[in-house]
Amino acid sequence: MRGETVHTLPDDLTPPGAQLTQVATGATWSEGPCWIPDAGVLRWSDIHGDRILQFTPSAGDPVRGQMSEYRTGVEFTNGRTWHPEGYVVQCSHGLRRVEADRGGTVEPLVDSWDGVRLNSPNDVVVDDDGSIWFTDPHYGLTSPGEGHPGEMEYGACYVFRYEPASGRLDPVVTDMEEPNGLAFSADGNTLYVADSSAVRKPEGVGNRHVRTYRVERDDGAVRCIDGRSLFEIPAGIPDGLRVDESGRIWCSAADGVHVYTPEGEHLGHLAVPEVVANLCFGGEDGRDLYISATTSIYHLPVTVRDATWRRISA
Ligand code: MG
Repeated sequence: MRGETVHTLPDDLTPPGAQLTQVATGATWSEGPCWIPDAGVLRWSDIHGDRILQFTPSAGDPVRGQMSEYRTGVEFTNGRTWHPEGYVVQCSHGLRRVEADRGGTVEPLVDSWDGVRLNSPNDVVVDDDGSIWFTDPHYGLTSPGEGHPGEMEYGACYVFRYEPASGRLDPVVTDMEEPNGLAFSADGNTLYVADSSAVRKPEGVGNRHVRTYRVERDDGAVRCIDGRSLFEIPAGIPDGLRVDESGRIWCSAADGVHVYTPEGEHLGHLAVPEVVANLCFGGEDGRDLYISATTSIYHLPVTVRDATWRRISA
């Protein structure tokens, strides 16, 4: 389906005549889109449907292809990312853990901190050192159809850093209400985290902003400091976000995708006809933007790649 493409993005971010196209539909709540480079597919979570879906583009055509069920009964997976060591890292609300999918074999990575269970890991990124950073809000425990009812055992919602080699898990951001999507800056020295605590609350209650933190790495100790709100989105809540190779922040919102400079200046808006939860850059050369929006996946050709493209494709 191609309707009129409405956007105010800077001209240099899209090729001439770029159209927003619905490439797949039939899901209930699409989240966690991730381009899987070794398979050449887009994989995403249908959270309420408790399944993982895939879109396999036809050769040379990023918008035509096959939608299929990758797995069902997946314990409410949410966000995922590609680890440069060659596997998918994904969050499971139902099992309250971060897990690895290595060619279809799923294994737990981490499910507890300080002797208690995690809440419901939501979204995940990989740092240049191979460590896995994820947010842990409570939605899988508190939102019907997104996991299993349960207690917040450590009493808060943190961002954690996990070292696969040592098994070490450390909280790195502890001053947010409900951390959700996250991404590193192009140079890796800044962490952006969306706070979506305004969701399902009365107008004026909770946060709908993206915070920025400086990442300090000293002798193996990693800290996030100087946290502050960078921008507030104009519609709905910010969920997933990505950073492109020039450092722009592409953020989901109820009315589509908004793009900001690293300083938080609004650069433009892409209207999407369904509420957007997340997005990712993908495709053979990394310049296809795939957007997970409620029942569907949409595609927009762009001129930029994800900030992590070079190491993913290395
Ligand atoms: Mg999310």
